Amino acid sequence: MKYLGLENLKADLWVFDNDGTLYPNSKDLEHAVGDLMDEYIAGFYSIKKLEASKKRKDILQKYNTKYTLIALRQDGISEDDFIQKTYLSINPVDFGVTSNIELTKLIGSLAGEKIILTNNPSEFAGLILKSLGIKHFFSRIIGMRERNYVQKPSIGAFEFLMYWLENDKTVVLVDDCLDNITIAKSLGCVTIFVEGGLL
Ligand SMILES: [Mg+2]
Repeated sequence: MKYLGLENLKADLWVFDNDGTLYPNSKDLEHAVGDLMDEYIAGFYSIKKLEASKKRKDILQKYNTKYTLIALRQDGISEDDFIQKTYLSINPVDFGVTSNIELTKLIGSLAGEKIILTNNPSEFAGLILKSLGIKHFFSRIIGMRERNYVQKPSIGAFEFLMYWLENDKTVVLVDDCLDNITIAKSLGCVTIFVEGGLL
């Protein structure tokens, strides 16, 4: 576990990113989800699986996004069905995402409300948090759909924090993406940059 001094901070609200923050990003996990997305795309557009990754690139470009779900929903997929058959069809344990006493102790020791702010679907963050054994510490998971697809680092993704900040509450935001850190800091959050996960 890296020492970041989180336990010495006092916050009314803790805002944690999920991927790459609460656990290290896993290329294997990313590939497994990507592979399921290709399978889904092949079925949806009635094309061969081999052609699906090219199709994925094309639609990401067409809708100018790096998020497959954001592109596909504009072509009319069922978002719930897609999330179920891709993000929720992997087992995080297979990719080394398991509970860790130190992480559990650390998150559990932080006073104040704790939420997750992720650019992935909240359901996926829920799956990961369950596997990490820390889901019960968080009062809310705000994912891409809960923000109507306004993604970090767009300022709109952080706007809900203004209620806290304008009422003199201390908000600590923990993220592994520097652009997100920069925006949060500019709004008045205390920020902690985590490189490669807390673990
Ligand atoms: Mg991240």
